[in-house]
Amino acid sequence: MTINDVISSNKINKMQYDVIIIGAGLGGLTAGAKLAKEGKKVLLVEQHSVPGGCATTFKRKDFLFEVGLHEMDGFQKRDVKSKIFRDLDVFNNVDFVKVPEFYRFVYKDYNIVIPHDPEEAKTVLLKHFPEDQKGIEAYFYQILNAKEINKKNEEKEERNLGEFLDSIIKNKDLKLALLGNLGYFHDDPYSLSLSYYSMAQGSYYSGGGYFIKGGSQKLSDYLSRFITENGGQVIFNHLVTNILIEDDKAIGISYKKNNTNNILTAYANNIISNSSIPLTTNTLLPKKQRDILKPFVDKRKIGASLLTIYLGFNKPLKELEYNYYSTFIFDDSINNIADIKNNNQGDFKNRSFTFIDYGQIDSALAPKGKSVGVICCIDYIKDWERLDKKGYVSKKEEVAQIFIDKLELLIPGIKSIIDYYEVGTSKTIKRYTLNPEGAVYGFSQTPLRAKLEPIKSIKNLYFSSAWTKIGGGFSGAIFNGYLCAFDIIRKK
Ligand SMILES: Cc1cc2nc3c(=O)[nH]c(=O)nc-3n(C[C@H](O)[C@H](O)[C@H](O)COP(=O)(O)OP(=O)(O)OC[C@H]3O[C@@H](n4cnc5c(N)ncnc54)[C@H](O)[C@@H]3O)c2cc1C
Repeated sequence: MTINDVISSNKINKMQYDVIIIGAGLGGLTAGAKLAKEGKKVLLVEQHSVPGGCATTFKRKDFLFEVGLHEMDGFQKRDVKSKIFRDLDVFNNVDFVKVPEFYRFVYKDYNIVIPHDPEEAKTVLLKHFPEDQKGIEAYFYQILNAKEINKKNEEKEERNLGEFLDSIIKNKDLKLALLGNLGYFHDDPYSLSLSYYSMAQGSYYSGGGYFIKGGSQKLSDYLSRFITENGGQVIFNHLVTNILIEDDKAIGISYKKNNTNNILTAYANNIISNSSIPLTTNTLLPKKQRDILKPFVDKRKIGASLLTIYLGFNKPLKELEYNYYSTFIFDDSINNIADIKNNNQGDFKNRSFTFIDYGQIDSALAPKGKSVGVICCIDYIKDWERLDKKGYVSKKEEVAQIFIDKLELLIPGIKSIIDYYEVGTSKTIKRYTLNPEGAVYGFSQTPLRAKLEPIKSIKNLYFSSAWTKIGGGFSGAIFNGYLCAFDIIRKK
């Protein structure tokens, strides 16, 4: 039976919805929740067994491991996410825990704890770099006024972050300190859009950082439940294989239960893809529509991925007198910000990394007396995908040992309290999200991307994920989902 035979036979008993959503990442869930609330008949189809995509947790032994979230930018006065959460009643159903510091920067002799409050952050940085007061002021002016500055510069050529920092700051170590958390957005300051970075980083400085008590699965589960409680349907373990097109319009999907070949179909007036844009265009659409979208997709670069070592400890690290939530450790081989990209792409032995100790907050990820942490670094699928199964397992183990040894130098004694560890690579992320190259933030936020015309879709097909308008991260995916819902609600 061909896909066309299946479509014609199913059309007789059409499963008709207002909206079908492909994927239960935060972009798909938020769009689905808003549309269900507005009375739309929603069907959401997810290939994994749980909702959330990157926003999930998994259990091993006594430990609940957070797949992705280190910190979500906060709930400042003008934060759009707060409005979305109020609209979807998130605050009454999900608990957010404030993260104590923005990040700690460890590099050579530097050990700098940077607070979220911009005035306090300035004071700390001035203490370490008093000669660069003007540069520090210029940096914070840029990121705290990003919206207005970006608007003013709309017509001008887009700058990259690295060049901006070079133009305002002399001390190379100060530039490195300011880029401590660069991995939250990208792998290279010289190809990261200044306007994008300023908005995103500014939101951490003005709103603080938050973790979700019990892990990000709590938010994903809540949004999924919200859809069903508002009359929608959420189906797990089913892969969407095609977007069905008629008269150049998206009219439905074909999908199948994992490990079966029985193709099902469902129809709707609107299709939202929370699946990555490259995957949607390259595999879900027929050739004609693929060719329409391809020029937009080809102009964009796929963003970086992350490698995570999930660690379960048989003690809270506070008992080792360790008191930081988020620490970024820059390798000594880095001399200036131009070395960051090579370091990210180089040998794991020298790669910079971050360590998050969830035991510093009320994360509810481990039972009393135990704790959970993660080591995380930039990762590329090319380092993993050609390995056979044995080679893959042994490289993961090798990389785990490299980073655990580095962690022991940072926190003496930590090795002896590790009860469990597991490595997730870009390949793991690709497997669970289907994102090409295991990208976690969608397309690279390059200066070029900021100036590209938006991806035009075909009639009745919408995109809602880290790959769309606002970009990636928890906030980006949530905004994109909500904006997408409005595009449909406002549609005439
Ligand atoms: C290790 C790690 C650390 C991170 N740290 C942070 C952080 O500290 N702060 C922050 O803000 N962000 C962080 N992020 C990024 C953030 O989690 C993501 O950018 C965001 O969650 C992406 O959401 P999304 O809506 O694009 O969907 P994704 O999470 O990419 O999920 C897409 C979903 O669609 C499903 N799907 C795809 N194709 C199909 C199909 N054909 N059929 C059915 N289902 C399909 C997938 O199974 C998946 O569930 C991190 C991510 C990772 C992995």
